[in-house]
Amino acid sequence: MTAGWSRPIDVDRLADGGEVREFNLPLRDLPRLVGSLASKEGSAHCLLSFKRERRFPVADIEVQAELTLICQRCMQPMQFLVNERSRVWLVSEPGAADRLEAGIEPVLVPQGQVVLSDLVEEELLLAVPLVPRHQIESECSGAEPEPHEDAVKQTPFAGLGELLKRS
Ligand SMILES: [Zn+2]
Repeated sequence: MTAGWSRPIDVDRLADGGEVREFNLPLRDLPRLVGSLASKEGSAHCLLSFKRERRFPVADIEVQAELTLICQRCMQPMQFLVNERSRVWLVSEPGAADRLEAGIEPVLVPQGQVVLSDLVEEELLLAVPLVPRHQIESECSGAEPEPHEDAVKQTPFAGLGELLKRS
């Protein structure tokens, strides 16, 4: 079941009905996002709630996902957790955004129609760092020729093994 996330829905209907949509969105169905992913596996958990505030439709968006990005320091895959909450105005004409409260992002919905997966994809694109990197440099693999802690520990035993074999 797609929960209707891939087709346009009338925002006025969503807002007036106070609708809540919860669904798992496969990452492979987000064409603008997959370009920056090392793996298309997995899905984003989405919770969208709609209502009307000061005449305008508003969406509260919650997205949780585990993305596989490429670390730009060691060029290896890394896991990146997304746990985002945001609120957006859904405006059908560009001029309307000027009259709205600052601090809440307006999203343009042509003809008052919104595709839920587009809203989620936008959130995920904003959450992904421009230059993804492992948080701690030591998590990067192959970047440093320095001896690894394990290698240092192993060396004396490897040497001992050689000595025992020889005796
Ligand atoms: Zn790295």
